[in-house]
Amino acid sequence: MQQWKIGDVTITKVVEFEIPGKVTWILPEATSENLLAIDWCRPHFVRDDGQSLMSVHALLVESQERRIVVDTCIGNDKNLPHMRAWHRKTGGSFLEDLIRAGFRPESVDTVLCTHLHVDHVGWNTRLQDGRWVPTFPNARHLWNRAEYEYWESDSEIQGDVVAESVTPVFEAGLVDLVTEDHVVTDEVRLESTPGHTPGHVSVHVSSRGEEAVITGDLTHHPAQFARPEWHSRADWDGAMSEASRRAFCERYADRPVLIIGTHFATPTAGHLVRDGDAWRLDL
Ligand SMILES: [Zn+2]
Repeated sequence: MQQWKIGDVTITKVVEFEIPGKVTWILPEATSENLLAIDWCRPHFVRDDGQSLMSVHALLVESQERRIVVDTCIGNDKNLPHMRAWHRKTGGSFLEDLIRAGFRPESVDTVLCTHLHVDHVGWNTRLQDGRWVPTFPNARHLWNRAEYEYWESDSEIQGDVVAESVTPVFEAGLVDLVTEDHVVTDEVRLESTPGHTPGHVSVHVSSRGEEAVITGDLTHHPAQFARPEWHSRADWDGAMSEASRRAFCERYADRPVLIIGTHFATPTAGHLVRDGDAWRLDL
């Protein structure tokens, strides 16, 4: 289990599962040939044969007595007929691993979703006696209002994702709709990075002069720091997401700020360094 200390804040990664193979299903320009041209991505993010590894994980943030889960992965039993690998997935040790990391679901007081896509909201709920019930019954779920209103206005776009993983939490009265710059604790705040979805946010951590940022899907793969023009098939507005990505890199490059990727394979985090016209992640 990977863990980072940012001043007094502890951040722990709990993996739901990893996705080996090609990444062109999400980044069409990230062919093996194009990935192999980015030297620094090897060996961790791209293998010598041009195949890659992505990760679906939650990041647990402990700050000033608050116990925060950032993004809740895919979940079990979800009806995802268009995503065969994840459709009605069962088993896996995600909840057990969460408990092993010291995060019993009942003890979680805050759940943040960087955005409301399928792989960031799944464990918001679990199936119990045929009903979707909140996994974290004592947590306030903080969602950017613009993000929620977008998905709520057209809840069919993602199939059953909203009905299974978003609405039950809202109807249980566990959601606080917040602004894109919401301050969670003195050490943790949201940072607006729109484009992948209308209300996409990253999560900024600062404590005792140390800083980190959790990217969310501002980038799916570290190669996008070298190729910020690579858009994701899942982007709501690719040009806007690219602009957010470039501004993010300008903001944090060549500074002692740990960049923690939401879908980056181990080692998951590094420092952004300017590299010609673009950037690279220094591990
Ligand atoms: Zn994602």
